[in-house]
Amino acid sequence: MSAIELRGAPVARAINEKIALDVAALAVRGVTPCLVSVQVGEDDASRIYRGQQQKKAAALGIEYRRCDLPVGTQADLESALRELNADFTVHGIILQTPLPRGYDLNAMQDMIDPRKDVDGVTAGNLGAVMCGRPGLYPSTAQSAYELIRASGIELKGKEAVIIGRSAIVGKPVAMMLVNERATITMCHTGTEAAGKLEEHVRRAEILVVAAGVAGLIPGNWVRPGAVVIDVGINYVNDKIVGDIDAQDISERAAYVSPVPGGVGPLTVTMLLRNTVLAAERLAGSTCHTSAS
Ligand code: NAD
Repeated sequence: MSAIELRGAPVARAINEKIALDVAALAVRGVTPCLVSVQVGEDDASRIYRGQQQKKAAALGIEYRRCDLPVGTQADLESALRELNADFTVHGIILQTPLPRGYDLNAMQDMIDPRKDVDGVTAGNLGAVMCGRPGLYPSTAQSAYELIRASGIELKGKEAVIIGRSAIVGKPVAMMLVNERATITMCHTGTEAAGKLEEHVRRAEILVVAAGVAGLIPGNWVRPGAVVIDVGINYVNDKIVGDIDAQDISERAAYVSPVPGGVGPLTVTMLLRNTVLAAERLAGSTCHTSAS
């Protein structure tokens, strides 16, 4: 039997419908959710990503602003972030990466007000994922999680193996799964160096691969019946490919997310869902403050 494809677009469509309803409810209260994308200098990949953000935001009635800064000093970026944090018409801030050389990415991310951190990159929001508390979780991690949910698999007690331990993908996905009582194993370059990747992958009932290495996982390592999410985006001979070597996988996995077409189409939707969530919370706290 062939694996069922977990495509992002239909999952995104269902979530977009809910976002549109939430935007309409905010409009009744006189609030238009507003996302600001901050870019320092030029970057080809960011240009494409921002274009997608803007198009989808417009379709959902979310205001999208660009804050473009020339490559200069980190102090300019700090003051732009301070202004956006203080601007009550702004509900979400995304700092496009990579930053030019000489900028301290972690320090700049942590300057963003966690209530407006719709990309889920501040320590505060990553802590919320860890504790299973409400917060703005990273978009890509949420996309992977939503695709797993779309497969209908029961998470409790399942063996979930996550490859990649980055703060915005591997770690938050692992935390979201363990919060649902899956049993998690996190693999990374250390696991590969120890020659132990294969043994972990073979045990996985849920496999999430977010390493950024084309074809890292051969399809024939995948456990029969597994739910497989390929987060990787790699450019090989002008084509986009994932981290899993697709050969053989379709005959083994029960569900597999394609690259492209799996996680990718969901990430902007998750960013916009976070923006609306941030607007709801900020509008709520504004009402609360003025009433008190
Ligand atoms: P990252 O470089 O920050 O982290 C990669 C992780 O993979 C590291 O923890 C590293 O230990 C692990 N790793 C690298 N090589 C490995 C190997 N040979 N064996 C085992 N582990 C290995 O990357 P990231 O930001 O977490 O992104 C991961 C991938 O997901 C990239 O391909 C990126 O382009 C893609 N991505 C996709 C989307 C999307 O919307 N689809 C969004 C963000 C990132």
